Amino acid sequence: MEHLSRRSTLLGGLALGIASVFAVTGTASAVGVQWGWRYCRDCKGLFYGGAGNGVCTADGNGHDPSLSGDYGLEYAYNPVPADYQSDWRLCVRCQGLAYDSPGGVCPSDGERHSTVGSYDYALYHGSGYPWRQGDWRHCIRCQGLHYAGVTPLGWCPAIGRHSTQGSLAHRLLS
Ligand SMILES: [Zn+2]
Ligand SMILES: [Zn+2]
Ligand SMILES: [Zn+2]
Repeated sequence: MEHLSRRSTLLGGLALGIASVFAVTGTASAVGVQWGWRYCRDCKGLFYGGAGNGVCTADGNGHDPSLSGDYGLEYAYNPVPADYQSDWRLCVRCQGLAYDSPGGVCPSDGERHSTVGSYDYALYHGSGYPWRQGDWRHCIRCQGLHYAGVTPLGWCPAIGRHSTQGSLAHRLLS
């Protein structure tokens, strides 16, 4: 009996994991959440782990998701709520999240990120939803999103370490 109930719990969890995109009800329309985003322990950036590990600033190899949980990004808000910032996109070369592309500096080749075909992701920066993880910041040099709750900050593909200057305080679903 106990075994059966544990098994059905496991299957339920599995089904949730496979349903990587689902609708969320709210005041704004056409919202989806895409899971599978990861924290990189090397560059401290956020990247999408559903298509390999991309290219990391720290060593030119793939990002390292070994310390990461599963992060979900909301996309396709219409209209975009006041406490969200849209225009975040997936770079198909480094697999990182990049703001207001084309722009920034991609660790794959030092040129701009390439975000053709990406969803338009919107990041929350309000004070609600206490279960969300804070300390995520925009870097004005590379246009990437990085976790600033660690010291020192991660290496930036533009120069030195990522900057938190002028960034909103983003809080992610995890
Ligand atoms: Zn990385
Ligand atoms: Zn890139
Ligand atoms: Zn940076």
